[in-house]
Amino acid sequence: MKIIVTVKQVPDTSGRIAVNPDGTLNRASMQTIINPDDLNAIEAALDLKDELGCKVVAITMGPPPAEGMLRELMAMGVDESILVSGREFSGSDTYATSQILAAAIDTYGIDEDDIIMSGRQAIDGDTAQVGPQMAEKLGLPQVSYAGEIKKEGNTLTIKRMLEDGYMTLRVKTPCLVTCIKELNTPRFMNVWDILHTYEKPLKVMDYEALKDHPLMDKSTIGLQGSPTNILTSFTPPLKGAGRILEGSGKETTDELAGILSDKHII
Ligand SMILES: Cc1cc2nc3c(=O)[nH]c(=O)nc-3n(C[C@H](O)[C@H](O)[C@H](O)COP(=O)(O)OP(=O)(O)OC[C@H]3O[C@@H](n4cnc5c(N)ncnc54)[C@H](O)[C@@H]3O)c2cc1C
Repeated sequence: MKIIVTVKQVPDTSGRIAVNPDGTLNRASMQTIINPDDLNAIEAALDLKDELGCKVVAITMGPPPAEGMLRELMAMGVDESILVSGREFSGSDTYATSQILAAAIDTYGIDEDDIIMSGRQAIDGDTAQVGPQMAEKLGLPQVSYAGEIKKEGNTLTIKRMLEDGYMTLRVKTPCLVTCIKELNTPRFMNVWDILHTYEKPLKVMDYEALKDHPLMDKSTIGLQGSPTNILTSFTPPLKGAGRILEGSGKETTDELAGILSDKHII
């Protein structure tokens, strides 16, 4: 059994955000962090490894410096990593990203009792599309928003968190699960794994390594293969402070009606 976790290196959006003239993020000029939801997916995988004894593999698509993030994950206890990297992949939107990652995961190999885990969403693109799209392309069942995961044999019991409650689902492996922050608290790196992180295997998959996979087609990867077009990007204007109306129900409704009428809204 193995658990493959997709992990994205994202710009630290708490700092300065730089945008290229074509509307894409200028990632090279920004500090990077590990996407927070992906750390919860890593922790869930390491928890299952502690309980059941399996292999945990981290996979990312990104530029060569993303190796640093993969070494960090291996210092937390991840056993092996895959870096999917190549000029042909750059400019990929979610459709192309999920296509490339699905091809890479399938090339690595998926067995009967394997699990693929992803974060629910990345803090830069924020679409929450890549996990479900990968499942679709790999023909695997998927459960999103996992807030609790238990494994017995080849069945996972997952508490799927919703806005106003939760649902409990059972799914057979192999499957894909997207993880949310309520699932756990990610662990720190530990001394043993820090010492051994550079001895752990890190496989690089470039375009050459993936080009014969049925999902790979130059027309559906990279910038030209991405159906998303950014027409414009802008920072929304700040809203003014709100106003709280006080008084009885009748007083506040009358006042509100007066304000809306003054603004010709009603
Ligand atoms: C025209 C265009 C060009 C773009 N060019 C680039 C570019 O050159 N470089 C770039 O980095 N981004 C680029 N992006 C952004 C990129 O498409 C998205 O960031 C990426 O597809 C993931 O989408 P998301 O951030 O919404 O992820 P979500 O769907 O919100 O992510 C969900 C989960 O999927 C997994 N995941 C997502 N992306 C990756 C990844 N790369 N590796 C491993 N796991 C992943 C993670 O587990 C994540 O938690 C571009 C977008 C557009 C529209």
